[in-house]
Amino acid sequence: MTTIIVGAGHGGGALAANLRQNGYTGAIMLVGEEPHPPYQRPPLSKGWLKGDVEAAGLLLRQPDWYVDASIDLRTSTRVTRIDRAARQVILSTDEVAAYDTLVLATGARARQLVLPGSDLTGFLELRTMEDAQAIKARLRPGFRLAIIGGGYVGLEVAASARTLGASVDLVEREDRLLARVAGPVLSDFFRGVHEAHGVRIHTGTVVAGFEGLDGHVSGIGLADGSVLQCDAVLVGIGAIPNDDLARDAGLACNNGVIVDGEARTSDSFIFAIGDMTQRPMPHYGRSHRLESVPSVLEQARQAAAAICGTAEPKPETPWFWSDQYDLKLQIAGVPFDVDEVVVRGEPMTRKFAVFHLLGKRVQAVEAINAPPEFMVGRQWLASRREIDTTRLADPAVPIKEV
Ligand code: NAP
Repeated sequence: MTTIIVGAGHGGGALAANLRQNGYTGAIMLVGEEPHPPYQRPPLSKGWLKGDVEAAGLLLRQPDWYVDASIDLRTSTRVTRIDRAARQVILSTDEVAAYDTLVLATGARARQLVLPGSDLTGFLELRTMEDAQAIKARLRPGFRLAIIGGGYVGLEVAASARTLGASVDLVEREDRLLARVAGPVLSDFFRGVHEAHGVRIHTGTVVAGFEGLDGHVSGIGLADGSVLQCDAVLVGIGAIPNDDLARDAGLACNNGVIVDGEARTSDSFIFAIGDMTQRPMPHYGRSHRLESVPSVLEQARQAAAAICGTAEPKPETPWFWSDQYDLKLQIAGVPFDVDEVVVRGEPMTRKFAVFHLLGKRVQAVEAINAPPEFMVGRQWLASRREIDTTRLADPAVPIKEV
């Protein structure tokens, strides 16, 4: 029996380990286009950028582990095609490898911004260790970083850049930060925090193009004709699923590869996990492309169980986290179809939680420096119980007694 895993990121690496932990004795080939063994991406915009984490500390497992676990790790290698009829993949080395089970874990790539001046040098993105290294090499007092996009990439890099003394202008075309991933209370809160740290935030602002000096970007031209001077531009405007291989192979896709609760695609011999999948959301009765580490780890466990024939893991509530300055943001759930928002605690105190509800049931909780609210909110989300929102809004009522 052979399982081939395409994509040696956090998800692919976790799946290889899960298979061995579940007692899988077949051959495992783990193919990744980056030159490194699987590593963790979350620290790239935070601890690693600030120098708190070493490169070796990013690795999920040290290189010896793959040898000891008989995992054939192929770095700097791409799968160029899937032949579903023959159950084979073709590698960039021209090798043809046969599989019994194939798992796609190819993640997502940074969305590109193509505007007049995009061909200048000085543009940065953040997806890989090399991208993070290029950013890290520049962040120092006096360096002027312009950031396009007020999502997690933009805000986390802004926090790290300010901590290292660089100046930051951040441009977001929506009228609030984190518009795609969080509610307005959190957007206002983070705006205040970043402005207090000296980040100049330009929401509702459209980038028209770039100005350059000697071939290097020197400013962002805005639609109103003004120019933000800078030494480099970080583009953090979202991620595109790497589902090309799957689409070329004829697997069902819709903004990502469509998978079921076992992470199985429309071909029963092929699984897919992570940012590249359109996955079921059992707590919400819909599917969604969830871009988060906990989601890919859950899907890795689902796929490993299905491949090994072991017990199917219980569905988990989706969750996310972000660290900016001294703030810990934890989010459980996704605020789909919300009809009530309850803020528990005072944002000014930098310790509060925002509960998003539908019919008195929690759809999502966003907690700032408030782990108990996050934990209890996650439990409520899973249990679907109705909540007394008057008691929830009263911080004098302990969260466990709400
Ligand atoms: P994101 O969360 O999608 O945010 C990108 C933001 O940029 C959106 O608000 C988007 O607005 C805006 N934008 C798009 N085009 C723009 C333009 N031309 N000018 C100005 N703003 C523009 O994506 P991201 O921050 O780039 O993150 C990329 C991936 O990394 C995601 O998968 C994210 O989850 C992941 N990540 C996660 C974490 C974490 O969980 N802590 C940390 C780092 C990275 P529209 O909605 O209008 O397009």
